[in-house]
Amino acid sequence: SLQDRLQSAFKGLRGKGKLSDADIDAVAREIRVALLDADVAVPVVREFIANVKERARGAEVSQALNPAQQVIKIVNDELVRILGGETRRIRFAKNPPTVIMLAGLQGAGKTTLAGKLGRWLKAQGHSPMLVAADLQRPNAVTQLKVVGEQAGVTVFAPEAGNVGGAQTGSGTQSIGDPVRVARDAVAEAKRSLHDVVVIDTAGRLAIDAELMKQAADIREATQPDEVLFVIDAMIGQDAVGTAEAFLEGVDFTGVVLSKLDGDARGGAALSVRSVTGRPIMFASTGEKLDEFDVFHPDRMASRILDMGDVMTLIEQAEKVFDADQAAQAAEKVAGGSFTLADFLQQMEALSKMGSMSKMLGMLPGMGQFKDQLANFDEKDIDKIKAIIRSMTPSERDNPKIIDGSRRARIARGSGTQVSDVNQLVTRFFEAAKMMQRMAKGGGVPGMGAMPG
Ligand code: GDP
Ligand code: MG
Repeated sequence: SLQDRLQSAFKGLRGKGKLSDADIDAVAREIRVALLDADVAVPVVREFIANVKERARGAEVSQALNPAQQVIKIVNDELVRILGGETRRIRFAKNPPTVIMLAGLQGAGKTTLAGKLGRWLKAQGHSPMLVAADLQRPNAVTQLKVVGEQAGVTVFAPEAGNVGGAQTGSGTQSIGDPVRVARDAVAEAKRSLHDVVVIDTAGRLAIDAELMKQAADIREATQPDEVLFVIDAMIGQDAVGTAEAFLEGVDFTGVVLSKLDGDARGGAALSVRSVTGRPIMFASTGEKLDEFDVFHPDRMASRILDMGDVMTLIEQAEKVFDADQAAQAAEKVAGGSFTLADFLQQMEALSKMGSMSKMLGMLPGMGQFKDQLANFDEKDIDKIKAIIRSMTPSERDNPKIIDGSRRARIARGSGTQVSDVNQLVTRFFEAAKMMQRMAKGGGVPGMGAMPG
């Protein structure tokens, strides 16, 4: 899978102290093949790889992240970017009703989406109306009525009777004219105070001119606030051509990826935004009405990388890790002048990273620090502060001189046990060792190990 391929690409960087151009080229090559095999459109892959390479080459040596983590971060950022960056939410009309039109091939998931949107909008306090403007297939109207009923929302349909009391206006229009049905539905929504209208439209199995014209006519007649192009994420490489055809024939304001639950490769998701310039707004992940959500580019990127927890850690590490401070500490360690005051600073940085035991749960393969950090908690920081405050300046600068009688005195002074003082001194020497390792380019303690 794309996930596995990307992870194996990153594994090649494991243990590297510094990234050479050759390393970057090698990892870029692997990512490129992985994306192409996942059916991501060629021009999208090309741009993606160029950006990753450029950023990796330009990356400064980081104290917080090792090279593999840096590349993961860059790839993640680029994934978020090509998926659209920010989450794009529905733009509601200032004067209701907000009109949302659905377009896409037959079987893409439009009718199901209408039900999902209805349910979702209703849960947010809206009063949606679904409109059956797919009059191509005999059972299309029935299908919309069924999902409307499941969602508990009104369905506007021509003649054969409306669920939830909506009327078909004059009642004289032909059952065969979807443009008219859509137009009447908007008028009816205004009258009956439905603030959102979701128009389900007909699709064909393949792109055809008649279908495009019908959708364009519905668009023209109803002036929707949003036109959502629904695309089956499983169609792979065909996604691009289909999306381009609808962009040209109907135009749309946003994309809905359906059947993401069946899409192991992620190609459509990664291509469609770049190719169309339109944001992905929702994702459907199953047939049931609640299997649907607002699309978040960052969450999709972590799903693709399958390293969500590691990314969280990397981001947190970057946030709390002050590079200058770390460089100073490393220098002091090297020069033998790493003190308890420096140690306290490091502990405080670590405590900012949140609950250590929880973080440990996220990170596979870091057993070496487990014992040391597993019991770490906020209270320890206060205790450490108290103990260090009870030390003389010379003890703080040179903990080696802290013998048995000094330990007893420090414990009394800080209201702690001699065992606490012992533990602190032990931890200090362990931390000094850790700092030495970091000075050699390992990254944040406990983050030197690659996931996998
Ligand atoms: P339409 O022709 O565009 O209206 O597509 P439908 O809404 O009728 O959906 C076509 C088929 O895909 C139906 O069997 C749906 O149950 C199924 N479907 C729709 N969305 C999803 C989804 O997100 N995941 C899965 N697995 N199936 C879906
Ligand atoms: Mg349908």
